[in-house]
Amino acid sequence: MESEGDPHMGPRCREGCGLVRLTEEHSCVEALRAFADALEERGARLEHEARMAELRWNRREQFLLAQVTALQNETQVAALRYQRRLHQYLLRTSSIAAQIVGFYQRRESPTNMESQRTDSDEEHLQVR
Ligand SMILES: [Zn+2]
Repeated sequence: MESEGDPHMGPRCREGCGLVRLTEEHSCVEALRAFADALEERGARLEHEARMAELRWNRREQFLLAQVTALQNETQVAALRYQRRLHQYLLRTSSIAAQIVGFYQRRESPTNMESQRTDSDEEHLQVR
């Protein structure tokens, strides 16, 4: 690796630093200083990008949490609405059933002597 060099950049220095020789006049100290500066710059840029990514991620997380909360609320409201509707249907169904029972009892009671229901029972069922 030390002896190969980068075909796009030029040969590597064999005098100590091992960096790519950009010009004929090469100073290991200056080359290393430039390399260190470039590394520092790159590190700062990466740090900045990481901070930005973290901010983006936090915003996204907040947004998603808000959506989950909204969906949970929506679901609760829908569940309550359906519960209420189901209750109304059940009331209506039992009222219809009571009316049907009352209807057949009224039809049967004059001829059927074994019927144990009284008139007051029928009236009670009809009212419901
Ligand atoms: Zn060098």
